[in-house]
Amino acid sequence: MSPSVRRRKLIEVDLPLDDINAESKREKSIRHGHPSTLHMYWARRPLAACRAVIFASLVDDPSAWPKVFPTEQDQIDEREHLHDVIRRMIEWEHTDERRPEAREVMREARFEVARSLARGRGEPAPTEPEDVLAYLRDHAPPLHDPFAGGGSIPLEAQRLGLRAAASDLNPVAVLINKALIELPPKFRDQPPVNPDADQKSMTIGKGRTAKRVAWRGAAGLADDIRYYGRWMRDEAYERIGHLYPPATLPDGTEATVIAWLWARTIPCPNPACGLRMPLMKTFQLSKKKGNEHWTRPVVDREAKTMAFVVQDHAEGVPDGGTVDRHGATCVACAATAPLAYVREQGKAGNIGEQMTAVVAEGYRKRVFLSPTDAHVDAAAAAKPDFNFVPEQKCPRPLTLSAVVGTESRIGANFSLIDS
Ligand SMILES: [Zn+2]
Repeated sequence: MSPSVRRRKLIEVDLPLDDINAESKREKSIRHGHPSTLHMYWARRPLAACRAVIFASLVDDPSAWPKVFPTEQDQIDEREHLHDVIRRMIEWEHTDERRPEAREVMREARFEVARSLARGRGEPAPTEPEDVLAYLRDHAPPLHDPFAGGGSIPLEAQRLGLRAAASDLNPVAVLINKALIELPPKFRDQPPVNPDADQKSMTIGKGRTAKRVAWRGAAGLADDIRYYGRWMRDEAYERIGHLYPPATLPDGTEATVIAWLWARTIPCPNPACGLRMPLMKTFQLSKKKGNEHWTRPVVDREAKTMAFVVQDHAEGVPDGGTVDRHGATCVACAATAPLAYVREQGKAGNIGEQMTAVVAEGYRKRVFLSPTDAHVDAAAAAKPDFNFVPEQKCPRPLTLSAVVGTESRIGANFSLIDS
């Protein structure tokens, strides 16, 4: 076949879509070991679908090789074999190459990609796993995902043995991709460096089947990340843990606080009122059935202060919030403040804040509590005591055209941000 003839790829003919859909859906509920637990990202593509699509874009459809698969039945049989490879390689369990069966499946997938490449090049296909990887590195097309986002596509390209590159306009996406596809390969098969680790070997398997083997894959890197992650958590707890006091539950026991909720406040425009009015879209804290809660503003008109009391739906349901896109309403005197007034107060530095509720971790559910002085004081006490305090002004957000405009004079960005 001449090189100018484009061979049909499997993806152009047939895919086991139902299986790919089912496995992609199943992946959404997987928490342990999935890159989605590394960092949140919008519209993350399922790994199973990416793996199947990249594979099927590289492997020739058997109809492209009539000399190898002369009859229609031969082609159907071979296509079914390739579909079988896809069905096995998209299983979540087969992404963990510490498992022998997972290693076997991915070796088979890489071999099929190499075999298609080799047929096109008129060469015998490599068979040993290391040779297959080397062959893919040298001959398979590299994959570049210009808007890689959460990194599913370059990660799966790399898993299939391709050289993968990723880019994105969003620096968070770039960081996720660095952590996912750029850094781990650099530490492949290397032992961890933390003082607790046994540099010589790692344990695989559990119980009676457990055995010691040399560090392989990203296991050494993962061990270091766990060790130093723990160190950072403990160190942070030591230094700033006192700023996060536990909550006292109604039964007197203590619980970890998940969140302290706050509202922005501005001075009420009615001079006779004098309250700092809270800007809240809603008073509702939870609509979860059986655990509905809201926070009620209680105004002391004499003292011109306001407190928040957390209630459940047995004690009434909340009114709507106090702020929308037209402006804000005072909870004490019902005076209205147009949006222009709210903005004015913001520009004048008159925006304050008030704690509206404390959310704590109860037994298998969230517990909503009224703010206490201890929690408000802890927040007020949180002042940085380090010597270096950032003094620069916050950069104005750059418009896209400004970014493009600086391209031809790299290094000029700073003056652009400052001005
Ligand atoms: Zn008022």
